[in-house]
Amino acid sequence: MLVDLNTPLRDLVGDKTAKAFDAKLGLRTAEDLLRHYPRRYASRGELTDLASLREGEEVTVLARVQRAAARSFKNRRGNLLEVTVTDGTGVLRVTFFGKRNQQWLADKLQGRVGLFSGTVDTYQGTRQLVHPDYVLLDDGHDVEPDMEAMSYAGEIIPIYPAAAKLETWKIQKAVGAVLNVLGELPDPLPDWARLRRDLVPLSQAFRLIHEPVADGDPGRARKRLRYDEAFALQVILAQRRAVTEGLPAIPRRAGTGGLLAEFDRRLPFELTEGQRQVSDEIAADLAKDHPMHRLLQGEVGSGKTVVALRAMLAVVDAGGQAALLAPTEVLAQQHHRSITGMLGDLAERGLLGGAEHGTRVALLTGSQPTAVRRQQLLDIVSGDAGIVIGTHALIQDKVDFHDLGLVVVDEQHRFGVEQRDALRAKARTPPHLLVMTATPIPRTVAMTVFGDLDVSTLSELPLGRAPITSHVVPAGDKPHFLDRAWQRIREEVAAGRQAFVVTPRIGDDEGTEESIGEDVALDLLDDDAPGASMRRQPLAVLEVAALLREGPLADLRVEVLHGRLPSDEKDEVMRRFVNGEADVLVATTVIEVGVDVPNATVMVVMDAERFGVSQLHQLRGRIGRGSAPGLCLLVTDAEEGSPSRERLDAVAATVDGFELSRLDLQSRREGDVLGASQSGRRSSLQLLEVIKHEHVIEQAREDAANLVADDPMLERYPALRARVVALLADDRADYLEKA
Ligand code: ADP
Ligand code: MG
Repeated sequence: MLVDLNTPLRDLVGDKTAKAFDAKLGLRTAEDLLRHYPRRYASRGELTDLASLREGEEVTVLARVQRAAARSFKNRRGNLLEVTVTDGTGVLRVTFFGKRNQQWLADKLQGRVGLFSGTVDTYQGTRQLVHPDYVLLDDGHDVEPDMEAMSYAGEIIPIYPAAAKLETWKIQKAVGAVLNVLGELPDPLPDWARLRRDLVPLSQAFRLIHEPVADGDPGRARKRLRYDEAFALQVILAQRRAVTEGLPAIPRRAGTGGLLAEFDRRLPFELTEGQRQVSDEIAADLAKDHPMHRLLQGEVGSGKTVVALRAMLAVVDAGGQAALLAPTEVLAQQHHRSITGMLGDLAERGLLGGAEHGTRVALLTGSQPTAVRRQQLLDIVSGDAGIVIGTHALIQDKVDFHDLGLVVVDEQHRFGVEQRDALRAKARTPPHLLVMTATPIPRTVAMTVFGDLDVSTLSELPLGRAPITSHVVPAGDKPHFLDRAWQRIREEVAAGRQAFVVTPRIGDDEGTEESIGEDVALDLLDDDAPGASMRRQPLAVLEVAALLREGPLADLRVEVLHGRLPSDEKDEVMRRFVNGEADVLVATTVIEVGVDVPNATVMVVMDAERFGVSQLHQLRGRIGRGSAPGLCLLVTDAEEGSPSRERLDAVAATVDGFELSRLDLQSRREGDVLGASQSGRRSSLQLLEVIKHEHVIEQAREDAANLVADDPMLERYPALRARVVALLADDRADYLEKA
């Protein structure tokens, strides 16, 4: 039989085992199995450090049996086999239950070295494994009759991510069987790249990672396989860039004497150097005859909206339309308000007092009355509205554009690629695309996740922006600190300022809570607190607002805002807050994105440890947007020195979003960074860590660019093409779609 990577496992390891691999580990083909890499290695001479085991952990330990004794129960049938294994310093109790006397097993185990695999628990103060799977290593005979004998040739024993009844040694055996019959594999990596980067061939890499002989073998294998992950990804992204560059687009040049020129003339502030530079890059892109594909990233408050608006006006000047897609209704309305505000009579074409060359700004949201909506749709299809702002409502079939030339997507991470494409499909010729994000992304992540976009970064904040000071407020052991927080709010309000109080929950006990954010779900997972479920419920908007109204902020105007308010009410609350008719806004994370109230100077975040690092940074960006200094208080019960507390301290210590996003990413698993493997499934990036392996990603990107420039369809690289196709077909690579 000719065995290659696509050979089904059932042809290689038998039906029963193949079924187990599929059911427990999702592995179906030879390649799936070969890419199921060992988690670590045990070396035969070195026993596992038993003192390092933690209760609840799934472990495979390599240890020597010190004592094994069988005894029967006094009051019931059955037998107990008590074994003590040791690493030479500590001991671990291993217990087997059986129906019959197990003295034969006790004799067999005495003095032997084996791998024992199970969950660590504690019994009478000693750590133990109950009925672990095990295999003895120091001769070829097996003890349990149903355990197939296997030989341990190597001195280095791979320990695989395993599952019940699919122990690491069974995986090792299956891998060995596959490697034995596998032919020489066509290498997807071109020789020139492999030699340039000093990498071993693919077949050799599989052998070195699964059956290492020398200490350096796993490292050499990982280096090669890690590079492959980066390379395949970068080839896909390079191909996408090539496709975009091959598409036609209508060049949109603003010219002079149009809306943009008039807008610039009226702008009440100077653009920052960064804004000017990025605007120039965008203008140059818009003037090309293939579509712009650009990511604009910049700190909260760095002035992305002005840059985007200038791009939109350029397109309108050139006779086209621009659409701005916002993730929430609050944000769409706010964009509409601020953009019509900035444009003044330039946005009142056809109205009395409207400027001659003006345009109109349409707003389209899900909750508009039909009549309003109909008028907006007419303005959009006729082209009277040069600028169209909206939520998902923009994507619907009924929305027709006269000539859509530019799509701007705000807060990209909230939209999938399908939504972005659905909007782009409304243009006759592919429109230009500008994606904005306030979540700073380290360069290599941008290169990985947004690798098919050109990236512009606004790194400076506009002048005159006052600094934000942040403090962690330990509420658990120092309740008077919290009183002081409320007092600070009263002081700011007395000085004519406004405040936000943010809580993790709404508190109307209805359905699911709103987007605390994916990153928080993760934070909760690896939370240090023993048993997150034992903790009290997170604080809620409605409760906190009630408490504040009765107590510490009784004489202030306190309002609430959360995602389940009817949208006209949300809008009304925001309007009152913006107009200074409310002093304090108690809200959920609905205010996280984009809300712009320059007069707000204090933010108190309750249960701050429940929010992710990036999310706190976003939230904090809601204050300090004017000229008065901002104060952000992170209230928490998390104990000093705990990981939660350290995270909060880090957020308090810096306002550098890039540094924080590194921190955030470091604390997560890779698949989560890229949005894949939420379900706990294997990510197709196993060895590549986008933060740690920056260098690898850069090299792969360079090689991929060269290759795709030379052979865009990979015609001369069939093995690579197959790999790319497989990767794209794999739903584990969802993160590619997120870009
Ligand atoms: P972002 O969308 O990047 O968070 P915005 O575009 O909303 O930031 O800008 C934040 C605030 O700063 C707005 O009130 C905006 O009018 C103002 N702003 C933008 N650019 C400048 C500038 N160059 N100088 C002064 N203020 C600016
Ligand atoms: Mg914004």
